[in-house]
Formats: sequence, structure tokens, C-alpha cells
Amino acid sequence: MFLILAGAFAASAALAQSVQKFPFSKTPAGEAVDLYKIKNAAGAELDVITYGAIITRLTAPDSKGNYADVVLGFNDIEGYIKGGAYFGAAVGRYGNRIGGAKFALNGKEYSLYKNDGENTLHGGKAGFDKKIWTARPIKGQGWTGVELSLTSGDGDEGYPGKLKLKLTYKLNNDNELEIDYLAESDADTPYNATQHSYFNLKGEGEGDILAHKILINADFFTPVDAALIPTGEILSVKNTPFDFTEPAAIGARIEANDAQLKYGKGYDHNFVLAKPDGEFGLAARVYEPASGRIMEVWTTEPGIQFYCGNFLTGKDVGKTGKPYIHRGAIALETQHYPDSPNKPHFPSAILKAGKPYASKTVYKFKTAQ
Ligand code: BGC
Repeated sequence: MFLILAGAFAASAALAQSVQKFPFSKTPAGEAVDLYKIKNAAGAELDVITYGAIITRLTAPDSKGNYADVVLGFNDIEGYIKGGAYFGAAVGRYGNRIGGAKFALNGKEYSLYKNDGENTLHGGKAGFDKKIWTARPIKGQGWTGVELSLTSGDGDEGYPGKLKLKLTYKLNNDNELEIDYLAESDADTPYNATQHSYFNLKGEGEGDILAHKILINADFFTPVDAALIPTGEILSVKNTPFDFTEPAAIGARIEANDAQLKYGKGYDHNFVLAKPDGEFGLAARVYEPASGRIMEVWTTEPGIQFYCGNFLTGKDVGKTGKPYIHRGAIALETQHYPDSPNKPHFPSAILKAGKPYASKTVYKFKTAQ
């Protein structure tokens, strides 16, 4: 049984906008997980489950108008529960790493769960990606979507304050996926939510992403140590393999003899966006030559993590039976910089008590002519 929650808007359109809700699965604890299927009038489809607010499927056209699923994912909940790679998930409270799994705030020391060596990564043991979110369908002029809500209690994963979150995924008729985060806490707390979709613009499971060309709107990046914690320096990308101010193939310099690339096993770094924190602007543009697919990432966030699937090994087999190989996808995670709670000179990632925080990221799909 399923429920049709929204129907056609334009009777004349061959393809209609819609949101449908289906049962997806149950967690091992017996909690029900729902699937929302969202369609636009152009032919794109977005699937989202209430476990982890995970995007399980997203289709985009190639230059001939053929739609393909461009995000990695699984058909069943088990794939998401066992995989430690945050496929498609909403990540928080703190996306990325906090060094030493601790921070001090307002004169108090806080300890977090060490799930990445001595550090904490992507929210700890059970971050936003492992929670069941409350969902409802939403629609507006030219878009349909889903709103997901979550309350993270005071002390959840060691973080102070009761944090209330609203996350919306909106798919519009121009093949743009808009992601809005609204957060409010009753005590000061670190907050750095992001979206962890893995993209392959050839199609999920269709080999590696080394021929994808990427432009990143950043003149600087934050170098890391061997454990991928920022050193605190803000380095120019000039004359380094991190210069993507002009589009370059991801594979062109990935094997260069560079200590930063060795630490990340490839690109796994935060770029400092060349636009003010809070201002909505271009972060990155990716072009895949074989399909002609283009994805632009726009955000209000000050940074973006460019991760090119260096830790994927092929052991995860995806929704159409293809292995997710080494460098088989990229994640472009809009964010505040990693370890900001311990780096006072980075833009602050402290959400102030009672002060709502809004953040917007849009993934725009286009094609080359
Ligand atoms: C990080 C990687 C990590 C991956 C999966 C990315 O955001 O930058 O270092 O392996 O998430 O956890």
C-alpha cells in the first residue's frame, strides 16, 4: 500500500511533479523507515529515506536527454547500516573531523566518540546519518520535495544543547536539488551539517571519476596532517595539484608526488571558497565528458570538502549490482572547515543558543551542448 501525496500540477506537462510515500524497511530495532519518491516535470527523480535523511537515488539527463541515476546507494537498509561510508546521508552534528575528539566551549571541555583513530568523524557513533527523521511532503511553485525534522537531545554524542533541525530537499523543474538546513539549539554547540551524496556523472557504478573535470571556486585550501586533521594553515592552491581555479581532470595530478595527496590517498580536502561566508555563490562545477553531464554546487557555506572516493574499495556492491570501486565517485560536501571548534581563526562553527542558523546548498544539473 502506498499513499499518493501530491499529484500533477500542470495537466499539459507529459511528466508531472509528484511526491509519493512508500514503506522502505525496518531498522534492526524495529523502527519503520519510509521512502519518499519525488519527481519533477522534466523527468528527474529523487528518492529519500527517513533513515539518515539519505538520498538513495537521483537522476539527471545526459546531453542526449537520457536520465541516469548519478548517486551511489543501496536497495536495502542493511547496505546503509553496515557501510561506514555515509552514502547519501545527512551528516552531523559535526560533518568532517574534530581533532582529538574533543573541544572546549565557554570554559568547559567536551569529549566526543573516537570513530576515526584518535579523532571524531561525521557526528560520532550515531550521528544524523543513523537517526530516523520525521518527514512530510512539501511543494511550491515549480518544485516538490520532502521536509525532514530531527531533534538531537542535550548531550547527544557528547555535544551540549538540545538541537532542533529541519532539512528540506526540493527538486525543481530545472533539475536543481536545493537543500536547506534550519538549526536552532538551546545552548551553544558546534554545528556543521552537510550532505554526503557520492556522485558519478557517468552513472552510479560506472567506473572511476578520474576523467571528470572539476572547477573549484577556491584560491586556498586547508592542508591536513596524516590523520586528516587541518594543520591550521590556509595555503594558496597556486602551483599545486589543488589548483582547480581552471577546470582540470580529477585524474590529471592525483598521483603527483605531494605530501597532501599522500595523506588523503588522493583529494580529501577542504577548500576555502572565494566568497564570503553566508553569501550564496558557486562552489564547484563538475563536467563529465562522455555523458555531457554537468553538476554545479552552490552554497552559503564557507568551505567545501572535495573527496574523491579514495577509501572506496569495491567491497560495497550498489543498487544495480555494480561494485563501488576506488575513486568510483566524488563527494562535494559544503561545510564549515574541519576541526573549526579547535581552530579559532577558522570561520566559527558554533551555533549560538537561541539563534536560528540557516544554510543552503544547491546541486544544479545541466548538460554540455
Ligand atoms: C571524508 C573522508 C571519509 C569519508 C567517509 C569524507 O567526508 O572526507 O575522509 O573517508 O567522508 O567517511
